[in-house]
Amino acid sequence: MNSETDVLIVGAGPTGLTLGIDLARRGVPALVVERGETLTPGSRGKGLQPRTLEVYEDLGVLDETLAAGGPYPAGMIWADGRQRGEQAMFDPARDGEEGSRFTAPWMVPQWRNQEILRARLEELGGTVAFGREVVRVDQDPDGVTAHFATGEPVRARYAVAADGGRSTIRRALGIAMTGEPVDPNPLLVADVRITGLPRTWWHIFPTTGTDTGTGFLAICPLAGTADFQLVAQFPEGTDIDLSLAGVRKVVAERTHLAPEDVTEVRWSSDFRPRAALADRYRAGRVFLAGDAAHVHSPAGGQGLNTGVQDAYNLGWKLGAVLTGRAPKALLDTYEEERRPVAAYVLGLSTAIHHQRARRGPTTRQLGLNYRESSLTQETRPTPATLHTGDRVPDLTTNGTRLFDHLKGPNWTELTLEDDLFLIRPDGYVGWAGKPGMATELLEEYKARVGF
Ligand SMILES: Cc1cc2nc3c(=O)[nH]c(=O)nc-3n(C[C@H](O)[C@H](O)[C@H](O)COP(=O)(O)OP(=O)(O)OC[C@H]3O[C@@H](n4cnc5c(N)ncnc54)[C@H](O)[C@@H]3O)c2cc1C
Repeated sequence: MNSETDVLIVGAGPTGLTLGIDLARRGVPALVVERGETLTPGSRGKGLQPRTLEVYEDLGVLDETLAAGGPYPAGMIWADGRQRGEQAMFDPARDGEEGSRFTAPWMVPQWRNQEILRARLEELGGTVAFGREVVRVDQDPDGVTAHFATGEPVRARYAVAADGGRSTIRRALGIAMTGEPVDPNPLLVADVRITGLPRTWWHIFPTTGTDTGTGFLAICPLAGTADFQLVAQFPEGTDIDLSLAGVRKVVAERTHLAPEDVTEVRWSSDFRPRAALADRYRAGRVFLAGDAAHVHSPAGGQGLNTGVQDAYNLGWKLGAVLTGRAPKALLDTYEEERRPVAAYVLGLSTAIHHQRARRGPTTRQLGLNYRESSLTQETRPTPATLHTGDRVPDLTTNGTRLFDHLKGPNWTELTLEDDLFLIRPDGYVGWAGKPGMATELLEEYKARVGF
């Protein structure tokens, strides 16, 4: 393992792997270190939102992602062993409504998603160093030094803590998380093999009471596998039994299935949904990303997706600064842009958890924007097409997809009708003006962002 790199990425979850890919394709030396001996198992964040699929297309992992997964099935409500009717799990989108190829989330178990990301990282020449637990990070004006539970330290110009909700690095930096439990009732989540349930539905067994041992239970067929993801809610304070016997017991108590219908528990975990946001996303040369910066209720499938987009926002900025094309101040816009997005998404996940909001246009993440960002500059006297700060839609003109032009790690200069746009590497409209006008502002802008 190299003892020096430009960017040290701590954690090989979806956030760290995405950042690793983005930096590798820019030719920026980076190293992903992971405390586990393997990628973390479990289907956990299984829903990839349309915006993430667009990001994955740009990063070169879309085909594998589509091949590895499938669409979500409709819900089937059960009571007393009988099917009570189907329930749509998402508010549908009309084709093309949001200018995207994708209108619904795509299901890929998180373990599989991580394998795809890791393979892409390695294809681009990057590596994940396993069995490397960061225990401390020191910084000085020139860089950071990460110390590990075992092995030699690593020196880097910047470090990114993508080490999950319990982030060691965030704690070591003294950055607080402000938030609250979303629900006092703990959840069991397990990847299981079950006989006797069709794979055509997401099976929902609603809460049957509030006394001991009751709560909702849901069993979702995991696309691309023979597994189901089982989620069961328990009363506050329950010490959840994660074993095969424990899973069989809860299934037998709350469904019409027999204990033996659960033939295998391949992975299981328990947690208490909470919503919390880091007070800062940066301390000197160390940035927080993904669950290290924000933790969500799993309802609405937002956490993983928000982490992927943190990485997609930070990658091009680190690349521009490290190659000397942009001033260091560009890095300040990472927190400025991503923290408000996380604050919004946290509120949304909590509202969906409590059934005050539904999964639909907001959870697809296509409408998230950076309109208020200091990187967003509008110089047109009367803006008409494309709002600055918005995600560029995947327009097709004369049979050509705009996304084909935007693909890759660079900025794009685009003239559409009578307007000139600078499109950021992460696909948002950064600057808009009239060709030949505001040229001084345009040059200043280009220097500021490393165009
Ligand atoms: C039941 C459930 C369902 C979910 N459903 C969805 C969903 O449908 N959609 C969605 O978007 N999200 C969902 N989520 C959330 C999603 O799983 C997380 O948001 C996602 O895993 C966060 O990715 P991450 O890379 O930021 O962190 P993690 O996936 O937590 O990865 C962090 C990595 O860092 C490593 N690490 C930790 N500390 C250190 C250290 N000191 N040194 C080195 N390595 C370290 C860990 O081993 C781990 O591999 C769900 C979560 C759960 C529990």
